[in-house]
Amino acid sequence: MKVTIDADRCVASGMCAYSAPEVFDQSEEDGVVVLVQDSPSADQHEAVRTAARNCPAQVITLDQ
Ligand code: SF4
Repeated sequence: MKVTIDADRCVASGMCAYSAPEVFDQSEEDGVVVLVQDSPSADQHEAVRTAARNCPAQVITLDQ
């Protein structure tokens, strides 16, 4: 799995960091998403899919 984000369109909701904290974090300055891990391990895939599905701005893209 390859994860990409469009941080310019992120609305800083924090949903992704809540769902998959090992993969997504938020900037301490403005809350915008920070991608910690762009190739998460298999045990993270379900959480990453949940994060992508629940992102209110739909800016998380999964390859696979
Ligand atoms: S869930 Fe989407 S909008 Fe919210 S912080 Fe993550 S990437 Fe940004």
